[in-house]
Amino acid sequence: MQAVSYVLINTPDIEVWPGGLLRARSNHDARLLSRARHVLRRKRDGRYLAADLPEGLRSLVPGALREAGMASALAALKREVANAHGRPAGTLPLHRLQERLDALGLDAGYAERSGLSLIAEPAWLALAGFDRYRRPLWLEADAARAWSRMREAAWRDDVLLEAISGYRSHAYQLGIFERKRARGLGVDDILAVNAAPGYSEHHSGRALDIGTPGEPAAEESFEQTAAYTWLAANAHAFGFTMSYPRDNPHGIVYEPWHWCWQRQDPAARSLIPASA
Ligand SMILES: [Zn+2]
Repeated sequence: MQAVSYVLINTPDIEVWPGGLLRARSNHDARLLSRARHVLRRKRDGRYLAADLPEGLRSLVPGALREAGMASALAALKREVANAHGRPAGTLPLHRLQERLDALGLDAGYAERSGLSLIAEPAWLALAGFDRYRRPLWLEADAARAWSRMREAAWRDDVLLEAISGYRSHAYQLGIFERKRARGLGVDDILAVNAAPGYSEHHSGRALDIGTPGEPAAEESFEQTAAYTWLAANAHAFGFTMSYPRDNPHGIVYEPWHWCWQRQDPAARSLIPASA
C-alpha cells in the first residue's frame, strides 16, 4: 500500500497545508512559503495566515494569532508534527455549520425536501494528485488510493480520466452563498445552481467530478465520451458510483461527471483486480 505523503490537516476555521503546495501571492510570501514546513490557511477566503518555518511560526497577516480557530489549528499542527504513527480518522463536528446555515436563511425543510443530509468534513485529507487546473486534489485517503487505481486501469484501456474537483469545505461553499446573498440573490435562486453548504458530497472527501481532456468540465455532454462509457462499465469495481443519475430522488440535475467512492465491505474487495 502506498504511503500517504502529503496531508491536509482540517480544523473548523483553518486548514494546515503541507509546505510546497501553495502558490505565493507576493514576493514577501514567496520567500517565506519556500521555507515553510506547513502553511495555515483561512478556509473562508483562502488567505494565508501563518507559515510554520524551521525557526518557528511567522504571521503572514496582521493579527494572525488572534484569528478565530487559530488555537485549534495550532493544536492540530502540533499533533501532526508529533504524530509519526498515523492519524486518527474521524470528522469535524457539525454544530458550527448549522449556526451559519440558520444565519443564511436556509430553512430546515431543505433536508427533508431534498432527501439529503448534512455531511461532515474529514479531520484530514490525502493529496490525490492534481486536478485539470493544476490545483492540489484532496480526497479521503482510501478514496485517493481508489481514484489512483481507477485512473491507472482506465489509462491501460487508453482512456484518460481527469479530476475536475474533489474535496470542498463547508466554508468554501458558504462563501459562495454569502457572496451571492450579499449581491441580493434569494436562497432559492442560489440553490438552483449551487449545492446547499453542508449537503454536497464533495464535503466528505469521497466525491469526485471527473472529466477527460478536450471536454468542458461538468457538462452533460460528458456522457458521450469514451471516459464516461469506461466509467459506467468499470467504476463500480473500484468503489465509485454515479450519485445523480437522471431523475434522481434528490431533484439534482443529471450529473454524469459526479462519482462518489463508498467504503466497501471486505467481501466486495475481491471485485478489484489484483493488478489494479
Ligand atoms: Zn460534483
